[in-house]
Amino acid sequence: MGVSPDVRAQYEAVIGLEVHVQLLTKSKIFCSCSTRFGDPPNQNTCPVCLGLPGALPVLNREAVTMAMKAALALNCAINPRSRFARKNYFYPDLPKGYQISQYDEPLAESGWIGLGTDGTGKRVGITRVHLEEDAGKSLHEGFPDSDSKSYIDLNRSGVPLIEIVSEPDLSTPEEAHTYLTRLRTLMLYLEISDCNMEEGSLRCDANVSVRRRGATGLGTKTEVKNLNSFRFLQKALAYEIDRQIEVIEGGGEITQETRLWDSREQRTYGMRSKEFAHDYRYFPEPDLLPLVISEAWKDEVRRCLPELPQARESRFITQYAIPNQDAYLLCQSRAVADYFEEVARLSGEPKLTANWILNDLAFLLQENAKPFPGVSASNLAALLALLQKREISGPMAKEILAEMIRTEKSAAEIVAAKGLRQINDAEQIAATVREVVAANPKQVEQYRSGKTATLGWFVGQVMKATRGQANPQLVQEVLKRELAG
Ligand code: ADP
Ligand code: ZN
Ligand code: MG
Repeated sequence: MGVSPDVRAQYEAVIGLEVHVQLLTKSKIFCSCSTRFGDPPNQNTCPVCLGLPGALPVLNREAVTMAMKAALALNCAINPRSRFARKNYFYPDLPKGYQISQYDEPLAESGWIGLGTDGTGKRVGITRVHLEEDAGKSLHEGFPDSDSKSYIDLNRSGVPLIEIVSEPDLSTPEEAHTYLTRLRTLMLYLEISDCNMEEGSLRCDANVSVRRRGATGLGTKTEVKNLNSFRFLQKALAYEIDRQIEVIEGGGEITQETRLWDSREQRTYGMRSKEFAHDYRYFPEPDLLPLVISEAWKDEVRRCLPELPQARESRFITQYAIPNQDAYLLCQSRAVADYFEEVARLSGEPKLTANWILNDLAFLLQENAKPFPGVSASNLAALLALLQKREISGPMAKEILAEMIRTEKSAAEIVAAKGLRQINDAEQIAATVREVVAANPKQVEQYRSGKTATLGWFVGQVMKATRGQANPQLVQEVLKRELAG
C-alpha cells in the first residue's frame, strides 16, 4: 500500500479495544462442569452447557468475584444491580442459539487505566466490564473427513468470560499495544486469568477509524478480529489505518464492517457488514435473577486486591532507586516482582539484584529452558553478597550462577569446590603481572611507545593466567604500575 508519511501525518487514528478475558474459575459460569483446557472433546459438558431444553443456569459466585476484581482494579463503578441478557445468533458452536451476556445493565462502568506507571501517562477510559459465557469451538482440521465436515467441541461452552470495552481513547498502534499489555499484566496480578493469547484466554478485537488531524468528530470505524498476538494487533492496526487513509484520499468512504486480519497475507479483509445491536434481539435472560451486589461484598473484594502492578512499579522506582525500565520489567509478573523484593531484602543490594534478575538470570533460564526462578532467593542473594564483597568477580559470578541453575548447589559450595575465590591480594597479582610482562617484551614496547590500548590485552592475559580469579580492577592498577617501568 502506498500512503506516504506526509499524507499519514495529516490524519489521526482513533482506536477502541474490546477485550475478552477467560476467567480462571474451576467450574463454568452457569453449571458445575470443569473449565480445564485440553481435555478430550465434549468431556466437560452437561445439559446446561449443551443447551438441552429445560436445563436451568445457576450463576457461579466465583466468576462474579473475579469480574468484580477486574472492575475495581480498572477503577470502574460496580452497579449494585446488573442483569444478564440473551444475545441471539446462530452459529454451530453456540448450542442454545443465544449467548448469555450482559447488555444494557452491565456489571461495571466508567473506569480507566493509565498507560504509564501509577499516576503517569495517558488515561484510557473503560466504558464497561461485563460477564458472559464463552461459546464452544468448531474443529475444522485434524480429522480424516475434515475436508467435508467440521466437528464441535463444547468443553469451552459456558466458560466464564469478562469483556472489557475501552473508550475510543487510543491514537496509535503502539498505544493500543501498551494498553493491552497493561491490561494483561493487571489480570495476571489479580490471578483471574492466565491471559494466554495463543490458547484464546485473552482475545482482542480492535475498532479503528481515522480522521483529519484536528477534526473533532469520529470517522466511520471498522472492527478488526482474529488478532491472536500482540504483534498482530499492532500490525493489523497499522495496516488498517493506512487502508482507511487510502480509501479517503481516493475520494471513497469507509464502510462500517467487520474485517479479519490475515497474518499470512499481512492484511485485513472484509468479513461481513457490521451487525447492529438489534440484529442480536437482546432481551433479559428470564432464567436468571438480576445480579445484586452489596456494598459489603464489594468491600470484601476490594480488601482482597493485591498491590497493583503500576502502583508497585512506582514504589520500586522510589523505594529501591532502580531505573524506571527495570521497575517496569520486574513488575510485569507478580512472581518476578516478589522474588526481586526478597533477594533485594536479603542482599541489601536492590540495583545489583534488579540487574542480575533481568540480565544474567533471565538469559540463563532461557538458555537452559528452566522455569523461573531457577535458583532460590537466598541462594541468589548469597551469590550477590560474594560479588559485593569482591570475593568473586563479575565473570566468576556468571559462571557460578550458571552452575547453580544446573546443579541447585549454593554459591558457597561451588566456590569452595572449584577454589574459585577472587584474588584480591595485590602482591599475589603483581607476581603474575611480572611474569606476563616478562614474557611479552614486544607488547611492553608497544605500550611504552604510546599504544596504551594494549593495556586491555595485558589484563586479558593476567585474567587467563589466574583462571579468571584475579580482581580485574586490581589487575589494571598493578599493570599500569609495572608497565610504567
Ligand atoms: P458498536 O456500535 O460497534 O457496538 P460501540 O460504540 O459499542 O460500537 O463501541 C465498540 C468499541 O468501538 C469501543 O471500544 C469503542 O471505543 C470503539 N469505537 C466506537 N466508535 C469508534 C470510532 N469511531 N472509531 C474507533 N473506535 C470506535
Ligand atoms: Zn455444564
Ligand atoms: Mg457496542
